[in-house]
Amino acid sequence: MYDIIYRKKQGEALSDEEIRFFVEGFTKSEIPDYQASALLMAICLKGMDERETTTLTNAMLRSGDIADLSSIPGIKVDKHSTGGVGDKTSLIIGPMVASCGVPVAKMSGRGLGHSGGTVDKLESFPGIQTAIDPEQFRAIVRTTGIAIIGQSGDIAPADKKLYALRDVTATVESLPLIASSIMSKKLAAGSDAILLDVKTGSGAFMKTLVDSIALAQAMVAIGVGSGKRVMALITDMDTPLGNAIGNALEVEEVVATLSGHGPEDLTSVCMDLASYMLLLAGAASDIESCRVLAKDAIASGKALEKLGAMVHAQGGDASLLKTGFPKAPIITEFKTTVNGFITSMNAELCGMASLALGAGRVRKEDSIDYSAGIILHKKTGDFVAAGEVLAILHTSDEKRLHEAQELLTEAITIGETPPAVTKTVLAVISEEGVTML
Ligand code: URA
Repeated sequence: MYDIIYRKKQGEALSDEEIRFFVEGFTKSEIPDYQASALLMAICLKGMDERETTTLTNAMLRSGDIADLSSIPGIKVDKHSTGGVGDKTSLIIGPMVASCGVPVAKMSGRGLGHSGGTVDKLESFPGIQTAIDPEQFRAIVRTTGIAIIGQSGDIAPADKKLYALRDVTATVESLPLIASSIMSKKLAAGSDAILLDVKTGSGAFMKTLVDSIALAQAMVAIGVGSGKRVMALITDMDTPLGNAIGNALEVEEVVATLSGHGPEDLTSVCMDLASYMLLLAGAASDIESCRVLAKDAIASGKALEKLGAMVHAQGGDASLLKTGFPKAPIITEFKTTVNGFITSMNAELCGMASLALGAGRVRKEDSIDYSAGIILHKKTGDFVAAGEVLAILHTSDEKRLHEAQELLTEAITIGETPPAVTKTVLAVISEEGVTML
């Protein structure tokens, strides 16, 4: 391991054998966390070429089981986001797509760094099971049309261990590490088609459009090379998505969106993502017809019903979809002291503020406060007057407020002129190439 770390530190390409040695040894706990951390940092700083990234992906994919979804009829479609702040899209588009008759057998992750994770959000429902054995998982998809579970111990265990280590060693932002992490588990999860939601901007792990497109192209190439239908959308993550950040608060926004009155940016991204998932699954032959199906899934109430059915099938208390979730004991206003337009709202800092309130983990073993988080009352481009409320902070511990307030103050910039309007979906990447929107 010492030589492998040293060679990567010098910027050399690792051989296939070296990469496999690392993945196999680390998965079996024969390589300690401190050596794995050092190698991850060297990869972050020096990168990996296409061959190394593909070898790393395949080694991680083969570190565990490969799910067999063949007993579920139809084209199974999966979606994965590279991670963002306020990104609750899986809980919206999964039910939308499933309500159109396309089976969704989805494995999701937990929060990573400043970004939230679908499994953590789902666990806001008391009683919900997110660790379900493969036979039961397939049975729920067959009968309900959708199940969303955590990455089981047997699916890409190398990624599970590496993901947790990267989260606490500042080694998340790396193209080869993100591409191999996502594609190893997506390929192992067994769906026929995969839609990738590659985030770009201040709240994304890839901050620039160029880097985000490069990541999307790398992942599409790996997926297509493995015989799957894969496409990617590049979506904006410069500002948090929607208004809610934090687990149960986000689930309430999911319900609002599925009821047809979600925030505009979130609704628009979900419409696009769901439409492309439907296209990949062959629900209709062109994207415009898929958009009609996606719209109807919300307007008819079928998608919301599907979310309730999924929560119930996984043992959760679906009545919370109607009653709302328990609120944090401390709820406080965050106000501006100046007049002007919000010119930017750094999504990463907003995510960190939510983390500071208790909504995420700082150490691997930390537990989460599901009621903690932020509701934004103003977003980038809005005019605000001194004394106006910008956000509401929710926490169970008063001592956490100060740090969150400082982070939010740093996150939000107010100026005299309104900023340029940005698109929510910036590009579509397929096997054929990149289409800028
Ligand atoms: N999501 C993942 O699954 N892995 C990463 O490395 C980043 C985001």
